[in-house]
Amino acid sequence: MPSSPLKFCNVGNCTNRVPRGACEQHRRDKERARGTRHQRGYTNAWHRYSQQRLARYPLCVGYPAGIHKVPTMATCTDHILSARSHPELFWEPTNHRSACAACNARHAIDDEGGFGR
Ligand SMILES: [Zn+2]
Ligand SMILES: [Zn+2]
Repeated sequence: MPSSPLKFCNVGNCTNRVPRGACEQHRRDKERARGTRHQRGYTNAWHRYSQQRLARYPLCVGYPAGIHKVPTMATCTDHILSARSHPELFWEPTNHRSACAACNARHAIDDEGGFGR
């Protein structure tokens, strides 16, 4: 009966045996740690940028446009083309607009719904 030689997972003193590299659990741990670190840096820089932009453009542009009959304060900077489908436009100023929480949420729902359609 053929059996592939198993080694210990290469993380710390882990005793899980795997054909090579790290065990399933440690691979996932590493990926999660990388993802979290990455997201945190990205969020801080974005948050700073967004606050500065909101100081210059404090009013929600509306989603859909014109939904606000009275001027409404924006609370965040929204991506016109979502950062997920157009990551290359994340920092593109012409892809940014000020939005209130409700408009931002409506836009996000449309983006999710449109994804993969
Ligand atoms: Zn392991
Ligand atoms: Zn709004």
